[in-house]
Amino acid sequence: MIRLVIAALLLAAGSFSVVAHDVNPVDPAKLAITQYRIDAWATEQGLPMNTVQSVFQGRDGQLWIGTGGGLTRFDGIRFASFEASSQPDPTARPVFGFTEDPDGTLWIGHSRGASRYRDGRFERAWPDELLEGRRVWAFARAHDGVMWAATENGLVRWEKGEAKIFKEADGLPTRRLRALAFDKDGTLWIATTGGGLVSYAGGKFNALKPEHGFPHLEVRHVLADPAGGVWAATAGGGLVRVQDGKIRIYGVAEGLPTEQLTYLARDNDGSLWIGTWGAGVVRMTAGRFVAISTANGLAGDQIWSVHVDREGSVWIGTWHGGLNRISKRSFVVFGKPEGLSGDNTRSVIHARDGVTWVATAGGGVNRIEGGKVTAKFGVKEGLSTEEASALFEDRDGAIWIATYTGGIARLKNNKIENFGTAHGIPNVDVRVVYRDRSGILWVGTSSGLAQFDGKRFIAVPGLGAQDEGITTILEERSGTLWIGTAGAGLIRHRDGKFERFMRKDGLASNWIVALHEDANGTLWIGTNGEGITRYKNGQFKSIRLADGLWDGLAQAILEDSSGHFWITCNRGFYRVARADLDAFADGLTSKVLSTGYGPVDALRSTTFAGGLQNAGAIDASGRVWLPSLRGLVIVDPMRLPESGTPPAVSVSEITVNGVGAPPGGEIILPPGSAPLSIRYSSETLLNADRVRFRYKMDGMTRDWVEAGKSREASFPALPHGTYSFHVAGSIDGRRWQELEKPLAITVQPHFYQTAWFTVLAVLVAMATGAALFRLRVHQLRRHHAEMEELVAIKTEELRIANEHLSRLSFADALTGLPNRRRLDEVLDTEWRRAARQETSLAVVIADIDAFKAYNDALGHPRGDACLIEVADVIREATSRASDFAARYGGEEFVILIPSADHAVALAFAESLRRAIEAKGIAHPASTVAPVVTISLGVAARVPAPGSTWAPLVAEADAALYRAKQEGRNRVR
Ligand code: GH3
Ligand code: MG
Ligand code: MG
Repeated sequence: MIRLVIAALLLAAGSFSVVAHDVNPVDPAKLAITQYRIDAWATEQGLPMNTVQSVFQGRDGQLWIGTGGGLTRFDGIRFASFEASSQPDPTARPVFGFTEDPDGTLWIGHSRGASRYRDGRFERAWPDELLEGRRVWAFARAHDGVMWAATENGLVRWEKGEAKIFKEADGLPTRRLRALAFDKDGTLWIATTGGGLVSYAGGKFNALKPEHGFPHLEVRHVLADPAGGVWAATAGGGLVRVQDGKIRIYGVAEGLPTEQLTYLARDNDGSLWIGTWGAGVVRMTAGRFVAISTANGLAGDQIWSVHVDREGSVWIGTWHGGLNRISKRSFVVFGKPEGLSGDNTRSVIHARDGVTWVATAGGGVNRIEGGKVTAKFGVKEGLSTEEASALFEDRDGAIWIATYTGGIARLKNNKIENFGTAHGIPNVDVRVVYRDRSGILWVGTSSGLAQFDGKRFIAVPGLGAQDEGITTILEERSGTLWIGTAGAGLIRHRDGKFERFMRKDGLASNWIVALHEDANGTLWIGTNGEGITRYKNGQFKSIRLADGLWDGLAQAILEDSSGHFWITCNRGFYRVARADLDAFADGLTSKVLSTGYGPVDALRSTTFAGGLQNAGAIDASGRVWLPSLRGLVIVDPMRLPESGTPPAVSVSEITVNGVGAPPGGEIILPPGSAPLSIRYSSETLLNADRVRFRYKMDGMTRDWVEAGKSREASFPALPHGTYSFHVAGSIDGRRWQELEKPLAITVQPHFYQTAWFTVLAVLVAMATGAALFRLRVHQLRRHHAEMEELVAIKTEELRIANEHLSRLSFADALTGLPNRRRLDEVLDTEWRRAARQETSLAVVIADIDAFKAYNDALGHPRGDACLIEVADVIREATSRASDFAARYGGEEFVILIPSADHAVALAFAESLRRAIEAKGIAHPASTVAPVVTISLGVAARVPAPGSTWAPLVAEADAALYRAKQEGRNRVR
């Protein structure tokens, strides 16, 4: 699952410049092109071919994609193509158009006609003669349920299995039709090739051609407008609006980049998206056109089709640039393209008058009002440098501007006053300016802290080292002042005295980069890489990466109105509930849950500012502003990618023994537990990368199995019985959405596993016994020797029959675990599957240490009991549905762990070793330990195609041998 992420970046000059400054973070609906991200998928990511003729979102949220190489489905992560044999028709490619019936039947228009798809099966929609082998482009469903299709052989009307076709003789100007749409009033509009735009109402066709003021005879697409009438895309005559008999034409003169148009779609905000042949796609909003083409990162400029999905993403099928998606960025970014004078933003404050101030390194300071940059302050305006660092709003409304290379400046009424080392500032590199409530103005620099006396800055006495770097200052409501340093700990200033806290006092790090006081007066301390420390009631408690923080760096700690902290780092930023942190710090939980943003959010940069004040700020309406290396990221905590109810989960594919089964209804597996695998997906395409899953097989496991991002659950060996499979998806890890209807699964028993067989077996045994007895009495009376011979034969027959029975069986009689025979089978399938999916397969072999001595000391029956106990521990340890454990023979066991690499398998083996040891089965004769122990050998690999698993098992066996050699009771 690799995805090409091409962020829509800088604007090409010219036509977009009008909208470039129009980014209004206050109005996310009014997005400039720079606020979109573009993703592209091509053959490298599994698309059958880079020519994509059609895209359609089905009711389960997945996409249907028609390509030059056949039909495929996409769940946002993976393309699932149909085997040639199950395609509607192997020659029926490309696929040009789709529609879906209310009952879920999918209609597919292709080069040889039309097909329907339902419950995993394709069927031809109409008799072949109807279309004479010509293609079907598009469908439209009328309000009365009648299906209409635009084909190269006329207009098809299909109702209750009856198909009728309209051609020239019926009044059509041409039988070559391309697209259909019903307008608000129920009139059917037909785009034709060579016959203009045709309407059909009251049983009559009526064509609009150049002589009627319609610009072109080649019409590629037609789309209804919610206000009535339609829009038409022409191949050479531009865009046409037809409403109430009026025709309005939009061409190059109106701002379209070309008049060669191919496709039309409408998004959830009411914008029109127009596919062009040669100039990419064009968004039309309020009569204005903006183009997105290869110049902006689109993978192709020849557009076949455009489809807007339910999350508002615009999917684009290109001629040879594969499948593209244009979606809104998860977050608004405000940087140079939006009008900032510098992209490297360092600090941000929201002044009391509602104005936002931004310091940039290299572009001075900007003032933002109403979503627009309204002023810039740099060298020209009187600053000593453009390298601004920190900002602070003083009591009188003056803005203090700290810089990296020129001391500080005070900006009031548009006038700038500079202060440098000549005024006593210890260093020109200033990181924080702060006035406490007693009126003292503090200045923290990269080497030293100073106070302002109204005229000059004076180094602070009594601080200890004079030249340490100061990063942040915060006054608590109690009046205590805290000063963070770059490597010299945290300084408390109280009652005129300074006191220093270091790592040894409980701080996570001596390098402090952020301070925050919460509503309860608790102090939160962000460190440079070691996590967060809480200071409460005189006690320091730290929360680190290993405790669940998304990153160890905490450069800004901002608290939103819902009690969540927003914390920046150098791979994005993350959100964590303060209550979670408190619970952890109070020892009530062992883990915090934090959600990271950045890598999949198409930020322009994931590096955020830090080591200065304020490296982030929350505005009056609750939005979080975070300065990054490339623009300010503006987060609205009320509109997060994962907010709202989690997306629905559905089962997309079921395979039994490697063969597909329709995903619906009950699954019935044959006896002998054929390997079952279930693929599921989540309805979100936009957040597909974020969804994590868990599943549970009722009847087998009681707990959920955390599957992470994996979209497949496999059960190599389900014992006979009935099960129900549940799967749930979540984006935030808190709210889960369960599969609406759990899958019912029945594994049928072998004949010898059924109750009637047991009864029969008992009856047969009794009958045999009785027969033998009678025989015996009879023979005793007559031929003693003969009888003995007969009994011997019968006994031998019985023995052979028994042996045969047990060889047929898969279970080990003593421990109940699967036996070696079953292991071999499961190994075969798991090995093949791992090869196919290119995932690792791990094998662990466990052998009881000094078991012969155990038998010798305590007797064979006790040995058997011990084997049963060890098997139980192994069974418990492998309760994860996909794991598989078998008795290999004697006192050896084998465990298969699909998808586990070497490290995971080693960790598993070690935990198993400990579990056996912890079981504490007394072993008086062992030289290894007073209790029963095991040695384990581990091997894991991604199978090479066509290879066999034997070397893997041999490797694990060799590792076991080494474990024995090196002293036993260990993992190798
Ligand atoms: P090591 O630490 O090298 O593994 O020594 P060990 O004594 O465990 O190994 P060895 O292979 O010499 O002995 C295995 C013993 O396991 C021999 C056999 O009597 C015993 N054994 C095998 N199958 C069974 C069984 O089903 N029941 C019982 N009670 N013992 C069994
Ligand atoms: Mg052995
Ligand atoms: Mg042994």
